[in-house]
Order: sequence, then C-alpha cells, then structure tokens
Amino acid sequence: MLARAGIDPTPLRLAVAGVLVDEARALAAGDILALVRRKRQANKVTLYRILDLFVERGLARRHSSGDRAQRYCLEPGFSGRPHCHAYCVRCGRMECLPAAVGLVDVAALGPMLAMDVTAVEVRIDGVCARCRRQAPPGGAAVDVGPGNS
Ligand SMILES: [Zn+2]
Ligand SMILES: [Zn+2]
Repeated sequence: MLARAGIDPTPLRLAVAGVLVDEARALAAGDILALVRRKRQANKVTLYRILDLFVERGLARRHSSGDRAQRYCLEPGFSGRPHCHAYCVRCGRMECLPAAVGLVDVAALGPMLAMDVTAVEVRIDGVCARCRRQAPPGGAAVDVGPGNS
C-alpha cells in the first residue's frame, strides 16, 4: 500500500497504515497515536508528519468533525470504496459507512454543477447506538439510582 502511494516504508509508517486498515473507521490523530503506541514508541510530531504525508500522497483523507480534532481514514482508492461518515456528537466516534449508503449521486453532480467533481464529503451527525444506550433519548435518568430527588 505504501509502495503504491510512493511512500518509503519505515516501521512507524507501516504501523500507522496498519492502524488505519485495522480500525476501518475515521480516527483522530490522538486515537491513532494511542493505538500505534500499543506496539511501538511514537511521538506526536512524527505521527502528524506521517499523517500529512499520507494525505499528501493520497493514501489517507482528512475529515472535519464536530469537534476540533480532524479524523483520518484511508482514501477510497486504498480502502476500496468511496464512503460517507457517521459522527457521534457525544463520544466523537466516526464510523466509515458502507458505500451502499448512497446519499449523493456523485455521477450526476458533475453535469449538474458543471464541474469536475473530485471528492464528495458527507458526514452524518448524531448519537451512536452505544451512547444512546447510556443515556436514553428524552433524558430520563433511569439508572441514576433511587432517592435522588
Ligand atoms: Zn457515541
Ligand atoms: Zn472513512
């Protein structure tokens, strides 16, 4: 994969690419760093340089999120599918959705806008299943315990 992107494979670059492949979701740099550090030492500056390099060479893509930390996942050419993202506004998890989530007719966009469309970014914001279980909609605090009011 790195060779295909014209990137020299250092151990750390391989580790970062491995995390992106394994997780198959869009990760903040801090999360990537934590996962890489399970296997080897890495410092933040080097990690950011690697991510910049991956983005520059078209291996990874940077996505804006609801918080300040941008998320990174593999480019469609490398992950094999263009896709949308679902972002949880509570825990910040950003899932890569299956390509089948066809919210945008990319092929129709070019003629419609009279432009060469190179990328479409769709982000769905909401509360993920895990966060919904923790705090039911409506805010009813069922698990706070008795005698609280
Ligand atoms: Zn969540
Ligand atoms: Zn993604």
